[in-house]
Amino acid sequence: MSQVDSNLFDTYPELLSYPQCQYSDIEIQGVVEINSDGQTETQCQIDDENPHFFSVYIRHKDGCSEVIADAGLSKLNVLREFSQRLADRHQWRYKDYTLGQAYWLDVSQMAGHLEAHALNQKTWFCRLCKQPTKLIFGTLSLCQQCLGLLPHIGTKIISIQGKMSETTNAVDILTVNNSEGVVDGIFPEQENCFSVVFQNGVTQFLSPREITDTHNYRIIKKHDVHCYVVVRVSARGIEAESHQAAIEKAEAALDFHAMLSTGADMEYAEIVIGHTVDELGDENYLNTGHYKAQYAPFF
Ligand SMILES: [Zn+2]
Repeated sequence: MSQVDSNLFDTYPELLSYPQCQYSDIEIQGVVEINSDGQTETQCQIDDENPHFFSVYIRHKDGCSEVIADAGLSKLNVLREFSQRLADRHQWRYKDYTLGQAYWLDVSQMAGHLEAHALNQKTWFCRLCKQPTKLIFGTLSLCQQCLGLLPHIGTKIISIQGKMSETTNAVDILTVNNSEGVVDGIFPEQENCFSVVFQNGVTQFLSPREITDTHNYRIIKKHDVHCYVVVRVSARGIEAESHQAAIEKAEAALDFHAMLSTGADMEYAEIVIGHTVDELGDENYLNTGHYKAQYAPFF
């Protein structure tokens, strides 16, 4: 769903080439863009399972169809309401090919969590934990928690119990207790199986259910941890008529990037959480002011 802004919602009623009474059907379908180099016109094809965005088609009685609206995933419900309204008004048959599909929401869209909830008014059942969920992910149909359990390429896997495996020439090899392995492949087309290479050279293919069974496997992922550390950076002797003006002058004078961004692993995060303004000569700090900066918490 990454190629088109999820907030996309466009209608093209001007594209209707027949009077509205000459159409018979209205349909919602998932669409992918297939642009090959050198083509200026966007080429699209129907793909209800892994769409880039969604389109509303109306079908003319002679069979040809025209697009009258496009929308991103977060506006799919709006598109459905729009289509239903048109279908009711013109007595068109309404068919929604996107119903019952589980669509990926990528992480950037998770910020719009509420919107995502709104579009999934339906309750789904997670294939792994079997719990009801409002949000479902991927063709595997997992809830967010179960999705978060799955390993990635390069994730370390410990086989707690060990396992007997058979090699290609039918020799049994035992992967002993607490053997260490690494995920070296994920096969979405084969039930999303993980291939794990163990230290004795044996590769095991494990389903999401097997690999997340904590009696048999421990999943040890690698993480990059980013700490947001508060430092105090002072600008001294700033002349100004008010504390607010002093803060503005100080921030204009300080180059936080130059002072704080000292390498790939240390970078000014462009967040200032507040200010303290002391007045020079106010030895008892009677006029000192503390000000909370306007910033958007991002967690
Ligand atoms: Zn689940």
